[in-house]
Amino acid sequence: MATVVFDFDSVLVPCESLEVVLARSEGLSDEDLAAIEDLTRQGMEGQIPFAESLARRLAIARPDVGTLMAFGWHLAERPTVGARDLIRHLDEAGHHVWIVSGGFQELLESVGTRLGVPAERIQGVRARWDDDGLFLGLDEACGFCRSKVEGLRDLAPTLPGPVIGVGDGATDLALRTAGLVDHFVAYTEHARREAVVAGADAEASSMASLGEVLATLLP
Ligand SMILES: [Mg+2]
Repeated sequence: MATVVFDFDSVLVPCESLEVVLARSEGLSDEDLAAIEDLTRQGMEGQIPFAESLARRLAIARPDVGTLMAFGWHLAERPTVGARDLIRHLDEAGHHVWIVSGGFQELLESVGTRLGVPAERIQGVRARWDDDGLFLGLDEACGFCRSKVEGLRDLAPTLPGPVIGVGDGATDLALRTAGLVDHFVAYTEHARREAVVAGADAEASSMASLGEVLATLLP
């Protein structure tokens, strides 16, 4: 038995879901969209912490949970080719599959459970919504609102090892650097970042090749 910890955006689905949800939020001006884009870039380049980038973008976009769920239904029909089969294969072999992401919990659960991952093994950003489903703020107690490393730190001791991380971003590779996963596979089908590939133990550019890589790492 082992654990595979999947990133979500640009891995299990072919896009960055948070960006799409923010851009689809109602009533945004061109200035708002430009500011959101700028904060996304600053966060990805590490100029400001992920948590600050996220909170400031959400404060501008004020997404609603209805938009989020509608996009979740759309995405669940369009996952990365082969993702559902690979997850089923891992599950049947007795391995634990997790999804950890900087995306919204509601969207992750909507898509992730339909990919075959149980809701209790899906962890993302938790938000507070008002009675009309409008965004109020982030749940400050949620470690994943700060970073994946902080979010996974409490969970890591409970995961059956070896633990293998799969992701496309610097925040995923950080799990390996922090010692929270034993191996890290850079998933490059949708986005290939040289620094992430350089720090990874292996690279996979499709779910089929990821299956082959995992076969060499899993007990
Ligand atoms: Mg990603």
